[in-house]
Amino acid sequence: MKALVVEPGVAGSARVEDVDAHVAEAEVPVRVLELGMCGTDREIVEGLFGVAPEGEDFLVLGHEVLGVVERDGHGFARGDLVSGIVRRSCRHCLACAEGSPDSCLTGDYSERGITRLHGYARELVGEAPDQLVPIPCELGRLGVLAEPTSDCVRAIRHVRAVGGRQPWAPQRALVTGAGAIGILVTFLLRLEGFDVVTSSLEPAKPLVAEAGAEYVQAGDADLGLFDVVVECAGNAQLMADALGRLHRGGVACLIGIDGRDQRVSLDGRTIGVDTVLGNRALFGSVNARREDWLAGIDALDRMRRRWPGALEQLLGLRVPIDRFADALAYTGGKATLVLSE
Ligand SMILES: [Zn+2]
Ligand SMILES: [Zn+2]
Repeated sequence: MKALVVEPGVAGSARVEDVDAHVAEAEVPVRVLELGMCGTDREIVEGLFGVAPEGEDFLVLGHEVLGVVERDGHGFARGDLVSGIVRRSCRHCLACAEGSPDSCLTGDYSERGITRLHGYARELVGEAPDQLVPIPCELGRLGVLAEPTSDCVRAIRHVRAVGGRQPWAPQRALVTGAGAIGILVTFLLRLEGFDVVTSSLEPAKPLVAEAGAEYVQAGDADLGLFDVVVECAGNAQLMADALGRLHRGGVACLIGIDGRDQRVSLDGRTIGVDTVLGNRALFGSVNARREDWLAGIDALDRMRRRWPGALEQLLGLRVPIDRFADALAYTGGKATLVLSE
């Protein structure tokens, strides 16, 4: 069967080729319908990231899956829409033992399509039943957003946990970056009743206004202070700047990645005085555990009903697996690969 594979560490090695289609008895056979592509896939294809399964020299890509169950069994019925949890337990840390591989303390976890575990960029995949999450049929192809949404929901859950360590009534939020993640965070914060300002380098982002948020092109405009800042642009300078944009008790959450070799600057008083006297916090968030997946899928359904058609606009490019390079190069929103109709 066709799969999109890459040799981790080797730039430009991504290709579509035939791989084994074996599904074990203990697994649920899932036919892959559609697969989201993101910056992580881009980094793997550029040779900067990714680890092949032990004893193998290639990795099947793909971690944002929407699939359909092929056969009754293991608590699933043929025709059920599903997605699959990306990160799996390291089997030897406290966080993983408590069902939170998103907070793994060893780094020995595996991740579908990223780290030590083949991904979903293939026509058929066998998946452990406890790693599948049901997608309501009303959600349809929007279910392909379950993975990125679960990461955003996890980040906001942690914002509330960090901010909630002291009395706090957050109202105003800033989202930096308006790619697929920035847009999803904007919608999620609006669902939760925040006043949201979203900024990026682009002159306009109509989906931001559709979410009822204010769009500002990044520049010198003074946007005032915020209770919450979520950095989604993947820009280390913006991450440092986030500390200076917080109200008293404010929380800045970093979910973009910036691996460039560089130094960033920060006004000394911002960290040396204001962060202390203002009880501000800055933290990073990655991945999601099962409860975040379920909350994310529920949030997608609420977004779909509140803003009909908006999420469909976010899914801006839909191409067959052979056109993976176009999907990886796409910056207008979320690009997806179609594995079967
Ligand atoms: Zn992703
Ligand atoms: Zn662990």
